[in-house]
Amino acid sequence: MPVKQQIARQLQQAERPVLICHVSPDGDALGTMLGLALALRRMGKHPDTTCQDPVPTTFHYLPGADKVLSKPTGEYDLVVSLDCSDVRRMGTPYQSLSPRSKNVLLINIDHHVTNLNFGDLNWVDPTAVATAEMMLELMETMDVPLDIDIATCLLTGIVCDTRGFRTANTLPKVTAAATRLMEAGANLADITSRVFSERPLAAVRLWTQALQETHMEGRILWGVVTQEMRMQSGYNANADAGLVGFLSDVNEADIAVTFTEKDSGEIYVSMRANRGLDVSRVALSLGGGGHPQAAGCTLQITLQEAVDTVLPALQATWREQTGQ
Ligand code: 5GP
Ligand code: MN
Repeated sequence: MPVKQQIARQLQQAERPVLICHVSPDGDALGTMLGLALALRRMGKHPDTTCQDPVPTTFHYLPGADKVLSKPTGEYDLVVSLDCSDVRRMGTPYQSLSPRSKNVLLINIDHHVTNLNFGDLNWVDPTAVATAEMMLELMETMDVPLDIDIATCLLTGIVCDTRGFRTANTLPKVTAAATRLMEAGANLADITSRVFSERPLAAVRLWTQALQETHMEGRILWGVVTQEMRMQSGYNANADAGLVGFLSDVNEADIAVTFTEKDSGEIYVSMRANRGLDVSRVALSLGGGGHPQAAGCTLQITLQEAVDTVLPALQATWREQTGQ
């Protein structure tokens, strides 16, 4: 039986599954998890939704966003990992499962090319633009009727991971999936506006500081976001406020990368590739992962050491991939 059908059957048999999406959740991780939770509740199940880190305010509009737990509560009969390419991406919710719950079936549903197939049932489809696109397929397999809430969750995932239908993998099957979700009531204009057009002033202040010091080395454009910059600008998320996306739009940049100093002192490295180049291999080699065109990793070294480690690796992969 194809793995998608096996997963459908396990979900139909479960009573109390726990859903886990990745640390520092994005719209695809949250949308997929919350959409599946709604579907499972409609099927009479009692799922918990969990994530190590809080739901960013951007995604508070998602139905069920207020029900995401940072820790599992009690015992479960099924564990479902969503949009995570390895066990570590599930973070503390997985680590803090009771020994009994850790022993139940682990389902891994993901679209990252770097997925390590860590589950008991692994459905990994790198041709899917988003895990939410796979979830729509799964719901259609299970004959779950879509409603506006489920559709809003899943369309959010697709919109986020395609950067608003702008990535090269936005094929007709993707717009067709989006059409089905809109027909079920999801409001594309509203989702797009919430996800891309709302930016706190603190993010602009952070960019103003970080942009003073960007460096172009060969075809690689890079910048840093220090703890001090985040504090001075009032931007308190452990992230670069989308700066890496802005840098990757620069014509001269084949690769863009930002180094963000987190509150913990670890360095979060966010990479983007243009012109069909692949940065996921470098991310994977440094213990992270992602997609060919967007990948990342977290390093337990200083900012300077991170720059000195990552840039040569990116230069080498650039030379290898471009033959220059
Ligand atoms: P972003 O730069 O937008 O934070 O992440 C880009 C992509 O890389 C996302 O798909 C994200 O899930 C993935 N990614 C970022 N950090 C890690 C990591 O430490 N491990 C894995 N497996 N994937 C990561
Ligand atoms: Mn995703």
